[in-house]
Amino acid sequence: MLELAVEKVYRRIRVEAYTPIAKPANSTVQKSKVLLKLAPITYRNNGKEHRVEAYLIKGLKGLLRHAAMECARSKGLEVCHTSDKTEDKQGNKLIPKGFHPLGSCYPLNECILHRIFGSMHVPSKIRVWANPVANIKHEEYEVSSPVNKMQVATENRIALSYGGTAIQDFRESYISGDFTFFIDITKLGEEEVQFLLESLLHIETLGGGVSSGYGHVILRKIAIEEVKETRRLIPNGNGYDVKYEERVKTLVQGRG
Ligand SMILES: [Zn+2]
Repeated sequence: MLELAVEKVYRRIRVEAYTPIAKPANSTVQKSKVLLKLAPITYRNNGKEHRVEAYLIKGLKGLLRHAAMECARSKGLEVCHTSDKTEDKQGNKLIPKGFHPLGSCYPLNECILHRIFGSMHVPSKIRVWANPVANIKHEEYEVSSPVNKMQVATENRIALSYGGTAIQDFRESYISGDFTFFIDITKLGEEEVQFLLESLLHIETLGGGVSSGYGHVILRKIAIEEVKETRRLIPNGNGYDVKYEERVKTLVQGRG
């Protein structure tokens, strides 16, 4: 039988970060959901199978975008704001000094932020993602696909009405530990990559509860990698098994 393979090469920035405690703002009272519950993950420890809850960290691109805005401001570069309106209904100005309304620079004077993150006119050139967060209890374990092994704590809270009946149930989650996230930079030019690297250093916090001291983020390592991904169809008598292979080559490594 025929053996088929597809190969894809892309470049990414790998960021290894740490948070002592972050509150991912996933309660029903807050609008931005940062931690999303996924299908449980199965892992093995000493030949035994265990199932744990897994979560997706959302909002990483927004985090990076804010860091990039901060980076541009510190360098005196005028870039896109997150709003495309200049004032609200009451006539209050929405765009601070050093920024222009989202997408207004395009296409004539496209700013560096727009070149990376896009707007309603053009899609973003980057993709930002992290492996699922899993609350794995054992030191040694095997998983079929990579995870961010972090501490996840959940607190159940109920808001009571005057009569003592529950009017709203919400769970607050906290994550703590090391996590890795990636930025696909295949479509970026050298100047844009440099700007993103510098922007990473402006990342301060993740998630909600910042005013109460949560969400501090410390970057540990930053690397630029080239990834060669191969998908292969292996005949198995009844059809094919699909085999994924990933080869990672580090291009540049530095410290954040
Ligand atoms: Zn712009």
